[in-house]
Amino acid sequence: MSQKEDFSRKSAEERKGISAEAQKLSQMLSEATHAVFFGGAGVSCESGIPDFRSADGLYHGEFEGMRPEQVLHASYFSEHTESFYRFYRTAMLHPDARPNPAHFALARWEREGRLSAVITQNIDGLHQMAGSRRVLELHGSVHRNRCLSCGAVRDLSFLLRCDETVPHCPLCGGRMKPDVVLYGEALPAAVFRAAEEEMSQADLVIVAGTSLTVQPAASLLTLSRPRSRWVLINLSETPADRYADLVIRRPVGQVLAETMVHLPDSHVADPVPDALS
Ligand SMILES: [Zn+2]
Repeated sequence: MSQKEDFSRKSAEERKGISAEAQKLSQMLSEATHAVFFGGAGVSCESGIPDFRSADGLYHGEFEGMRPEQVLHASYFSEHTESFYRFYRTAMLHPDARPNPAHFALARWEREGRLSAVITQNIDGLHQMAGSRRVLELHGSVHRNRCLSCGAVRDLSFLLRCDETVPHCPLCGGRMKPDVVLYGEALPAAVFRAAEEEMSQADLVIVAGTSLTVQPAASLLTLSRPRSRWVLINLSETPADRYADLVIRRPVGQVLAETMVHLPDSHVADPVPDALS
């Protein structure tokens, strides 16, 4: 045995005592032939993006007398576009946020052929920034803005550079709308079908950073049964805990970083993707 192999084995042994959960997860990941990750707001917490739904979230409470769920509604966008954008720009955009160890671990597992897809409820684009390619964004992305008149698409920097509160299309002058799914709107059909397909083929589903109370999370998860094993990583209890094969109540980034160390032929250091350098 070479010195390198000996070192990596010893280092994994040392970590066994720290996290048996991560060790179990790495074993399940190694045994899986079609692993799928399903993530919610908790995945981006360690990147400094608050969950606007959570009770202690930064924006819990009032915005011009309303709850975020009311402001982020399709009808509110239509009728009070300027007020919508004031909230959206302050509460929903985090242009300086960077991927955390959870995003990097998932991107790496996809490259290594261990993970088939990331299905996410997040709109922050951090998975792609970390290098993930197959990302199914159920709720859209802040990185795309679409003209309601001509369909032209502009990125986030267009919105950030824009002087007016409500951005208008540089081609036709129409109103631009963020390509995120608002309350009262349907999920993007093609993305949802792809997510259903992934779930129905999965033999391992890692659910993280979601309480599974927002649909269609729970119904998507059910599609993977009875074939699939479930790992639930969330700080608080979820309705699916009692059906899970492994429940971990710790921050997602910590758990996935530890899991990466336990995986065979894995390395602690990960090169930073071009997008971040
Ligand atoms: Zn236009």
